[in-house]
Amino acid sequence: MKKLIMIKYGELTTKKANRNAFIKILTKNIEKMLKDENVTITKDRVRMYITCDDEVKVIKNLQKVFGLHSIVLCEKVNTNIEDICKKANELVIGKKTFKIETKRSLKSFPINSMEVSRKVGAYVLKNSNLKVDVHNPDIIVHVEIRNEGTFLYTDDIPGIGGYPVGIQGKGLLMLSGGIDSPVAGYLALKRGVDLECIYFESPPHTSVEAKNKVLKLASIINEYSGNIKVHVVPFTKLQEEIYKKVPHTYMITIMRRMMYRIALKVCLKNNLKVIVNGESIGQVASQTLDSMSVINKVVDIPVIRPVACMDKLEIISLANKINTYETSILPYEDCCTIFVPKHPIIHPSLDKCISYEATFDFEKLVDECIDNIETITNFESDDYTDYL
Ligand code: ATP
Ligand code: MG
Repeated sequence: MKKLIMIKYGELTTKKANRNAFIKILTKNIEKMLKDENVTITKDRVRMYITCDDEVKVIKNLQKVFGLHSIVLCEKVNTNIEDICKKANELVIGKKTFKIETKRSLKSFPINSMEVSRKVGAYVLKNSNLKVDVHNPDIIVHVEIRNEGTFLYTDDIPGIGGYPVGIQGKGLLMLSGGIDSPVAGYLALKRGVDLECIYFESPPHTSVEAKNKVLKLASIINEYSGNIKVHVVPFTKLQEEIYKKVPHTYMITIMRRMMYRIALKVCLKNNLKVIVNGESIGQVASQTLDSMSVINKVVDIPVIRPVACMDKLEIISLANKINTYETSILPYEDCCTIFVPKHPIIHPSLDKCISYEATFDFEKLVDECIDNIETITNFESDDYTDYL
C-alpha cells in the first residue's frame, strides 16, 4: 500500500521574497535524493507531499536534505468531521492517554480548530478506553485541515534544517584528510552553498591511501549534495621547490599561499564563488590571525571558515554525527604533515613572503598544477571504502 509523507519546510519559510526559488531548489534536491524510489511529489506553499512504497528508506534519505524542518508519516482523509474522527480513533490504538491538536488552514471549513479538537476528542473518548491528558499524553494526534485534504499524524521527525543546497551557488572546499575540513564542508552545504572540492597531493610523499581517504570523505559529504567533484592537484613539484628555496620557518606559510592561489584559479575557471576551508583560529601555526591574514592576501574572493570559532571537541562531535570522524582519523599522511618544519613562523611578515616567493618562478609551477588537475566525479558513498 502507498504511504504518504508530509514535509514541513525549514528556515526558508521566513524568506518570503525567495520562497519560490527555495521551494524549486528544494524540490529538485529531494527528487535527486529519491531518484531510486518510486515516489510522486506534490506541493503547496508550506508543505510538500510524497507518496511512496518504502517509507522507511524515503524518510532516511530525507533526513539528509537541507531545508527541511520536519518529516511526518501521515494519513490523508476526506475533509469531513466523521472521517477525521474515525481515523484519529484508529491512530490512538494501544495507548492510554491522548490529546488532539488541530490546525485549520482551509478557512472555508465551517468548524474552527478548537472545536474540531473537541469533537474528535469526544469521539475517541466515546469509542475507546483512552483518557484525555493535555499535559503529558502518550500520544498527540495532529489534524491539519488544508486545501488538499485533511492530514492526520502522530510523530514529527526532525529534518536537518538549513537552506537547500545550491541556493547560494557553489564554493570550493579545500578538503584534506583531516577532521576539520569535511565538517567545514558539511556546514557550508547546510547554509545552501553547494561544493566542489580541491585536494593537494604530493606523491610519492603522500600515498594513494591518503588520496582514497579524501575521496571517501568527499563521498560522505556528497550524500548531502549529490553534485560533489574533487579536483586533485599534483602538488609535488611546487612543494619540493618551496622546500628547496624558502627558509623552513616560512615553508608552511608559502605553501598555503600557493594552495590559495591554485584554489582561486580553480574557482574562477569553474564559476565557484567562495573558498571554504577547515581552518580554526589558533589550532596550528598557520591558523593564527596573523598567518591567516598573510595567507589570505593572495585571493580576492571570500574565504569562509565554518569551523573557525569552534573548539576541537565541538568539531569532533559534529564529525561523529556526520560520520566522517572514523575515516578522518585513519593514519595516512597529508602533504602538510610531511613537510612540517620544527618551528613554523606564527606571525609571518607579508614582505618576507613576497621576497621568498620572488626567488623562484612559482607562477609557472602554479599553472602546471592547474593544467594537470585530475577531476573526479560521480561519487557513491561506498566507492572508496575497499581501498582504505
Ligand atoms: P584538517 O583536520 O581539516 O586537515 P588541520 O587541522 O589538519 O585541518 P591544516 O593542515 O593546517 O589543519 O589545514 C587547514 C585547512 O587547510 C584544512 O582544514 C583544509 O581545508 C586545508 N588543507 C590542508 N591541507 C590540504 C590538502 N592537502 N588539500 C586540500 N586542502 C588542504
Ligand atoms: Mg590537515
